[in-house]
Amino acid sequence: MSDFRLYNTLSRTVEPFTPGDGETVRIYSCGPTVYDPAHVGNFRTFLFNDLLRRALLLEGWQVVQVQNLTDVDDKIIKRAHDTGRSIYEVTEPVTEVFHADRRYLRIQDAEQYPKATTHIPEMIALVERLLEKGVAYKAEDGSVYFAIDRFPGYGKLSRLDTREVKQGARVAQDDYTKENAQDFALWKAAKPEDEATGAVWDAPFGRGRPGWHLECSAMAMKYLGETLDIHCGGIDLVFPHHEDEIAQSEAATGKIFSRFWCHGEFLQIDGTKMSKRLGNITTVKDLRERGVSAAAIRHFIYSTHYRKQMNLSGVGLEASLEAVRRVGELAHRLEAARGGTPELAEAARDGEAAFRAALRDDLNGPEAVAALFMFLQRANAELDQKGRDAASLLEARRVFGLMDSVLDIQPRALRVVVGPDRVDPALETLSGMALAEVAQMEWAVARLQDRLAARAARDFATSDVIRAEVEARGFVVKDTGAGTQLERWR
Ligand code: AMP
Ligand code: ZN
Repeated sequence: MSDFRLYNTLSRTVEPFTPGDGETVRIYSCGPTVYDPAHVGNFRTFLFNDLLRRALLLEGWQVVQVQNLTDVDDKIIKRAHDTGRSIYEVTEPVTEVFHADRRYLRIQDAEQYPKATTHIPEMIALVERLLEKGVAYKAEDGSVYFAIDRFPGYGKLSRLDTREVKQGARVAQDDYTKENAQDFALWKAAKPEDEATGAVWDAPFGRGRPGWHLECSAMAMKYLGETLDIHCGGIDLVFPHHEDEIAQSEAATGKIFSRFWCHGEFLQIDGTKMSKRLGNITTVKDLRERGVSAAAIRHFIYSTHYRKQMNLSGVGLEASLEAVRRVGELAHRLEAARGGTPELAEAARDGEAAFRAALRDDLNGPEAVAALFMFLQRANAELDQKGRDAASLLEARRVFGLMDSVLDIQPRALRVVVGPDRVDPALETLSGMALAEVAQMEWAVARLQDRLAARAARDFATSDVIRAEVEARGFVVKDTGAGTQLERWR
């Protein structure tokens, strides 16, 4: 019997969690709205989902996770219309960037990434069901709305006082505040800009397009059934998005839509929420260009509990870079060691117990990271003893592997040696590099070849300038007997 516990926004308490069927955890994570590349704030939420997924796997459960891509909504249509494109021309390239960034950050693949635009029939069916039940109605503007006063549970997630609701008042846009809790649009009658951007579909109740909230209900139920184990997202989704998802789904099925609702807090910048609207965003690409490895980003994010706000800070990222360097070093030492001491095995067992306990305690990332570093310290001291016990070394490797399977904060180096007319190994043989990364690597190699030429001409001033330029882009430059070594951590 597991004693895994999670905070449930529905009850506002930390509750024991097991999957409904005892075996497989069915999770729906609200995904990105693909009109602009996701920022590190969005990725904080997706990394929280990744930690949750991996912690559940560590418990021995199976996980089926669905993460949607919102590829039709108010913001996408506006962007497409403003730039004279179709919604697909806006969303397809951004979707690619999302997956590339996600892979860079080592976020494990969900089992499904459904797109809203390929699930319109499921959404239409859900609206029809709600119309039949009399909880939805078509208004004079041609759109179909959900009547919140006909669903008694409305407001239970966000603790909204429904007595304040004005009967029949309606809100058409996808996002609104609690002060405007009103009947919300399930299906929006087609407007000229929808027609112009390809965001329209025929439905028995009129030509139009789905509202944002409807998308998630329809896709979640299609892939995970009418009752999910966990539905998660960022804290801003509690209202209206998740409140409206509950209303639509439960009014249609009469069943609990999700047993647990889990929300991650915001990543802030200078004390303000990072958001596209405020323009204070940092992207994964920005961090990559500054040489911040994926391992360091993960370490940084997991060092704060997912339910606490945190600030993106240069000092914090620097500290994480240093921390993960030590993790990489330990990995090498464990690999190279010939044996251990009995105390090494003891450190491993203590580490494993502390690590598992931390994750079971409402996914306590900082405690889990601390358990790894406590183990790291003790393991380093024991490895200095140069013990010969094979079993204890195996135990230490197993526990390190187990911790790494969840946190995944071991840095990996990309290294090439640049000579005047050769690069070793050739760039195209380095696997797993994203295109932008290849381009940067090519640029850095070219600059280092210029630098070698400057040095050959004894122009050390230029050589130093080039070195600084390359290092400013997050590379480490080392002169060796064989040439200049270019190194980048990821
Ligand atoms: P969006 O692309 O706007 O639909 O957001 C995708 C996810 O990122 C949602 O779960 C949001 O709640 C979450 N999110 C947005 N801004 C932040 C932030 N600053 N910190 C953490 N999560 C965020
Ligand atoms: Zn959603």
